[in-house]
Amino acid sequence: MTSPHLALSCQVCHRAPAMEIHVRRHVGMVLLMRFVSWRGVVCREHGLMITKEFLKKTLAQGWWGYLSFVINWFVIAKDLMVQSKLKKLDEPQPLPGTPADEAIEAAPEPGQAFA
Ligand SMILES: [Zn+2]
Repeated sequence: MTSPHLALSCQVCHRAPAMEIHVRRHVGMVLLMRFVSWRGVVCREHGLMITKEFLKKTLAQGWWGYLSFVINWFVIAKDLMVQSKLKKLDEPQPLPGTPADEAIEAAPEPGQAFA
């Protein structure tokens, strides 16, 4: 099985395949708004963790403004697109040459990675 993403490894758990993602979230504040974005190389597992977290916050905080109500749909669509790309990645595996134990040890607890 060859994948174009095999050369990249997840910056959280160092497993592959991984891909570079850019996720955004939007915070509406009636007249003001704020964009938060994150870019990094992650495996399917960690990528989905990050996109879910971003979507959850966007769905809660993204609607509170006149322009925000419109912009938020685009932000959500973009993040869903990233999520569907991540779902196409294979199950992350330790890179050849990396002892499996070491890779597992290096993986943070869920929720700890982005504290
Ligand atoms: Zn990972």
